[in-house]
Amino acid sequence: MLEIWQKALEYLRAKVTKENFDTYFASLHFVKGDGDRICLGGDDLYCVNWIRTYYIRDIEEALCEANGAPVKVDLVEMEAVASESAPSDELSATESSEAAGSSVELNGDSSFDDAALPSFPLNPQYTFQRFVVGPNNEMAHAACEAVARNPAQTFNPLFIYGGTGLGKTHMLQAIAHTVLERNPAARVVYISAEEFTNQLIRSISQQRMDAFREHYRSRCDVLLMDDVHVLQGKERTQEEFFHTFNALHTAQKQIVVTSDRPPSEIKELEERIRSRFHWGLLVDVKAPQFETRVAILQGKADAEGVHLPDDVAFHLARSGCANVRELEGALTRLIVFASVKHRELSIELADEALGELLENRSKTTSIDAIQKVVADYYEVRVPDLKGSKRTRIVAHPRSVAMYLCRKHTQASFPAIGRDFGGKDHTTVMSAVRKIEKELTESSTLRGEVDAIERKILG
Ligand code: ADP
Ligand code: MG
Repeated sequence: MLEIWQKALEYLRAKVTKENFDTYFASLHFVKGDGDRICLGGDDLYCVNWIRTYYIRDIEEALCEANGAPVKVDLVEMEAVASESAPSDELSATESSEAAGSSVELNGDSSFDDAALPSFPLNPQYTFQRFVVGPNNEMAHAACEAVARNPAQTFNPLFIYGGTGLGKTHMLQAIAHTVLERNPAARVVYISAEEFTNQLIRSISQQRMDAFREHYRSRCDVLLMDDVHVLQGKERTQEEFFHTFNALHTAQKQIVVTSDRPPSEIKELEERIRSRFHWGLLVDVKAPQFETRVAILQGKADAEGVHLPDDVAFHLARSGCANVRELEGALTRLIVFASVKHRELSIELADEALGELLENRSKTTSIDAIQKVVADYYEVRVPDLKGSKRTRIVAHPRSVAMYLCRKHTQASFPAIGRDFGGKDHTTVMSAVRKIEKELTESSTLRGEVDAIERKILG
């Protein structure tokens, strides 16, 4: 395998600039290898992250060429390879059961992976240049840019929340790219809260907590943690996160987290963590409006080198995709469909290509779905919403549900009435008016409706 690596290095030397070769590849250490796997070590985390982000494909290709067959590459940090183990820690019941759940990874062929704590590779596409700014995300975007330009000097922590597929991960990784562009030596760690949990579990079971703590508390200038809502109910991970947060914050290191909901709505989150999330800035991202959706589609088509006629873009933007991920998915599908059928992009083709997708879409924002989300939010039952009890406990959620059905579906007042246990359309109309009026007066209600809409649209 060492020979294959040396051969691969020669391919790489021919492919990249001398400067890059000397900086990144020449310094890689051959750690071990067998059959179809190779383990390479970088001097530090920065180097490992950089290679993982920008050069892993080149390395895999070169190895494949040298070996005549694909080779799986594990990248580790040399210092982590050398570092010592630490005494074991206690796990909470949920966490140890999760550890057991992922035992394949823990006990399987982990001889390569256990040496280091890899952070996630960054997606090279997730940059600020490729991020379309609109009224739905301009605050969040501005905050992310500010943080990326001056880590730990503006908002710390920065907490970004919003429904799925609205660009949170994209912005978080854009911060990483910008920080690294401006300061290639910065130690940027991007990690999902889920992976953080997995690493913690692994570190505990392998008695490597010292390395884990060192990695997150002392060897990190910018910590970007994605989807922190998954820490919900994970006591041991929260504890570790709390200490990581304190260590970094005290050392004036930047922390940015994303979540699908604001801290106040993350249940089973330690109060001390919740309060720290409020130390800095909290910003939300909402679903993009029509014009922003069109701009996103045009940007994506440009990136793919495809000409997207305006009328087709408008049509897709109106198709009812709830979030950007779905919107992009629809466009990708249309592009593939057009190329397979050798046809130009047109509205007719879009309807053919996306018929099924759009049908599914209209199903998901149905009255049914809204009733479920609202019932769930207020902790009442759907039959209560459809019933006629007038106690405030059920009457208020019912009015909110009617209001949201009117706002988010095409259904008429009589149709909504029918789906709420056969009520008269005037009942629906007065409920909708009532909520509309209350929304202008009550910030509590606005908060409730916002939270429910995020669930419906997310
Ligand atoms: P989230 O993390 O909020 O679930 P992602 O960041 O994964 O969402 O975004 C989903 C997809 O939509 C990604 O491919 C991302 O690039 C794209 N996307 C989201 N918002 C925008 C935007 N404003 N401009 C360009 N692309 C976007
Ligand atoms: Mg995400």
